Amino acid sequence: MKRNPTLFLKEGYEELVKKSLDWKLRILETGSTPHSVVDGKEVIMLCSNNYLNLSNHPRLIQAASDAAKKYGAGSGSVRPIAGTMKLHMDVEKKLAKFKGTESSLIYQTGFAANAGLIPQLAGKGDIIISDELNHGSIIDGVRLTKTDRAIYKHRDMGELEKVLKDADKKYNRILIITDGVFSMDGDIAPMDKIVKLGSEYGAMTYVDDAHGEGVIGPDGRGIGAHFGIAGQIDVEMGTFSKAYGVVGGLIAGSQNLVNFAYNKSRTWLLSGSHPPAVAGAQFAAIDVLETEPEHVKNLWDNTKYFKKELNSMGFDTGFSETPITPVIVGESSKAKELSNLLFDEGVFALPIIFPMVARDKARIRTMMNAGLSRKDIDFALEKFEKLGKKLDII
Ligand SMILES: *Cc1c(COP(=O)(O)O)cnc(C)c1O
Repeated sequence: MKRNPTLFLKEGYEELVKKSLDWKLRILETGSTPHSVVDGKEVIMLCSNNYLNLSNHPRLIQAASDAAKKYGAGSGSVRPIAGTMKLHMDVEKKLAKFKGTESSLIYQTGFAANAGLIPQLAGKGDIIISDELNHGSIIDGVRLTKTDRAIYKHRDMGELEKVLKDADKKYNRILIITDGVFSMDGDIAPMDKIVKLGSEYGAMTYVDDAHGEGVIGPDGRGIGAHFGIAGQIDVEMGTFSKAYGVVGGLIAGSQNLVNFAYNKSRTWLLSGSHPPAVAGAQFAAIDVLETEPEHVKNLWDNTKYFKKELNSMGFDTGFSETPITPVIVGESSKAKELSNLLFDEGVFALPIIFPMVARDKARIRTMMNAGLSRKDIDFALEKFEKLGKKLDII
């Protein structure tokens, strides 16, 4: 058949544009700072994952630059061949100590950790049980397995237990996977209860704490510390690309987990290791969390103030318990309009629309930043109030 083999590229893209589902990239002309210049406009940044503003911390910048000067721009290899530097090992040791686990392992990204590790933890004859709102990188990791799957209703422990009861007789290994902090709603998985159910039914527990690390728990130690169960979750997975302000995935758990993971994870074995600058900055990020508690404190002070004020204006902020605060507006078109108007007024926050959330739950997802002043937050709140009234949301 004489076909046009690449026609789908053009058609696929045009279809997205027609439905307004294509990503229109906003370009940062500054670093990712609390006041950023985006598409030529100065804005208050309310949609970066850089919660603690660590990406601009002088100690991280210095550490990145020192490491690059001393050890070069690249690592030269994948970790198992010649790409494991002492710098990488130092970060892993420091991280395990920080998280209260026996050991830890750094992946290139959080996505690479989920895609590389999950497929090794369960196979034929096993089952993976997931919260219905888990992140796409978990879903892709699960797709790479030949294992059976079950999904429980969001944070519904009754339903999880029902699935576990049923699975107990039928399967060999059972793996429960959940996000720690859910990225669309900002609520927290009941990890203490999940760990308890896991131990009752002999199931392994895996939490993706990408939005919890550096944010929840004392000094931002993450979800294990938050619930007082550090070291009891079989796999605490996370990322350096959000609150830690750098880039890179991580897992923390037992030495057995780490030995197994680095020998089996294909993303870890077959992809280059982090450049020295990245490892240097990661080390400094943990060090800053250990020695400068003000960043986590500022983040939470800002978060509480912002939520309280939004609620008193009459906005619906859903079930959030974290610095991710959704401002629920209803229709997708309204969420988009609000986001555009906010941007014009100098506030940068993106809309989250169907199919990412339910059709009538379109929202602006705001993410708080420790580096914003009270004046900045008041400025943003004033714009939310003005435009919320204009669009009949409040
Ligand atoms: C951001 C995110 C990831 C991916 O982390 P990266 O380090 O950016 O690849 C994985 N899981 C969740 C829940 C996330 O929010």
